[in-house]
Amino acid sequence: MAISKTVIEDIRARCDIVDVVGSFVQLKRSGASSYKGLCPFHNEKTPSFHVDTARQSYHCFGCGKGGDVFRFMMEKESVTFYDAVHMLASRAGVIIPDEDSRGGDPEDARQRAGAKERLYRLNEAASEFFCRFLREHPDSEAARYLRRRGIPDDVAKKFRIGAAPDSWDAFQRFSRTQGFTDEEGVTAGVLHRSENGRVFDQFRNRLVFSIFNEIGRGVGFSARSLEPKPQDGRKYVNTPETPVFRKGMLLYALPLAREAIRQRGMVILCEGQLDVIAFHRAGFECAVAPLGTAFTPEQARVLKRYTNHICLAFDSDSAGQKAVLRAAEILLPLSMELKVIRIPGGKDPDELFASGGAEAVAGAVDDAVSWLKVVTGTLAEKFDLTTPVGKGEAAAFVGGFLKLVDNRVELESYVREAADYLRVSEAAIFAELSSLRRQDRRRDELRLSTALPEKKPVQLQYPPAVLTLLELAINSSDAARLIGESLDPDELPADDPVAKAINLAAAGALNGEHEEAVRSLSSLLDEQPSPALSKALVSHTEYADVERAVTDSVRALRAARTKKLRGELMEKLRSSGDPEESSRLLAEIQKLR
Ligand SMILES: [Zn+2]
Repeated sequence: MAISKTVIEDIRARCDIVDVVGSFVQLKRSGASSYKGLCPFHNEKTPSFHVDTARQSYHCFGCGKGGDVFRFMMEKESVTFYDAVHMLASRAGVIIPDEDSRGGDPEDARQRAGAKERLYRLNEAASEFFCRFLREHPDSEAARYLRRRGIPDDVAKKFRIGAAPDSWDAFQRFSRTQGFTDEEGVTAGVLHRSENGRVFDQFRNRLVFSIFNEIGRGVGFSARSLEPKPQDGRKYVNTPETPVFRKGMLLYALPLAREAIRQRGMVILCEGQLDVIAFHRAGFECAVAPLGTAFTPEQARVLKRYTNHICLAFDSDSAGQKAVLRAAEILLPLSMELKVIRIPGGKDPDELFASGGAEAVAGAVDDAVSWLKVVTGTLAEKFDLTTPVGKGEAAAFVGGFLKLVDNRVELESYVREAADYLRVSEAAIFAELSSLRRQDRRRDELRLSTALPEKKPVQLQYPPAVLTLLELAINSSDAARLIGESLDPDELPADDPVAKAINLAAAGALNGEHEEAVRSLSSLLDEQPSPALSKALVSHTEYADVERAVTDSVRALRAARTKKLRGELMEKLRSSGDPEESSRLLAEIQKLR
């Protein structure tokens, strides 16, 4: 799923970091090429967040975060590099060629990329069409239905709820006037081709919920029947799988919920669209839902990027309980904290909001219980807890979930709870657990394959000389050239962003391209954050005597290396029992002088 370097550079060139950061943070000019503002990544009262226009980079002196425009989007929106590139591309109007066409004909690739963009636009045009139809037909069945459910116009507008006319071709005719072909309509799933080749509207006389992907592009629809007994027997009709609509990866209302999920530090996962809307109206804008299917590991991984805390608001019937158990199996191996919102009286969240308002919903969220309560709650009907055999089976059943818990402290409290409930000893549960774990290597492999790779910022302790060389190499092309001439690339600690940056700036200076080289350095932080590098990129330290500063730092760096090497040799010498080896080590140590 790589995006070509040229495309990435094109997007970078069109997304000025001051504009992009400036749409999240109020920035004030603070120097020839720098701006300052309150850091969006930590709480502060005085600005320590710096943005440098010349180097297109940012650094916070408070929390150490820093990087280029892509890293900023990754951190700010909790998305992957891949998604950050896509978000900025759509902001800048750059079309990203289809990834799976790499290596093929470039013209082909461009066409396919264009085709995907047209699918988004067609979906967005369709959403507009359905919303307008609903607005202009306040007496339609759809409008009456929404009123019955107590959903006001502004809420329908915010969630882009619309209505499909009771017609075979109203949308088809509209899409043609917008310049879309029937073929495109069929590919987007808004038109349907029957077996005899006739093309007609996919959604007819239905309430239509628009579905957007994570970054807010229109991708499809979920349409609810307005007839008590729909002709085709389907209560909901969704967009079929298309190049832009992959049901198992999408979550309803995610673009509306992202900010709140981050702010509250939790996400509420419900069953359906109307439940999501009820939570949002009750002030819990952190609610999302899968699209009429079971919750998938892909969706879990999307949510994990935003938060580790998930509250399930599923029905309390037995199907809902099963859904909770299945979600636990997916979420516990991802080390996510899992709670369950139980709604009194067997209602769903939508009914609860209608009858009790925001307060009742907030109460239910406050009363959320641990997932283990739901698991133990099902034991009595599954097993005969009055007999030792039944208890053993129940312990094995609970153990099947407990073994997915990674965190030792959490696990211990769960084991205590389960032991209490079953009236067995904690040791018995632990024994059950370790035998399950032994049997179940396969589950461990699955866990490894689903765990998110996490790149921690580099916290190497650099000798001060290295940091001085870094600042020199970035801020002065003369210094960078001198460094290139006097320092061998291998003399720096291998393969980390700081060493790479010094070497790149030096190489750039030797080729007469110092400025370009420095401008490219912030992209080193896309892969691996490095506070030392992002800080150096926003610093503009001037040195009175550049040559002297370089010579001193290079000497200090070498001295530090020699000292370290000497220490290692001395250590070997001390533990060596072989006279021949000892004299060889001694000779080496003397050579270092
Ligand atoms: Zn900060």
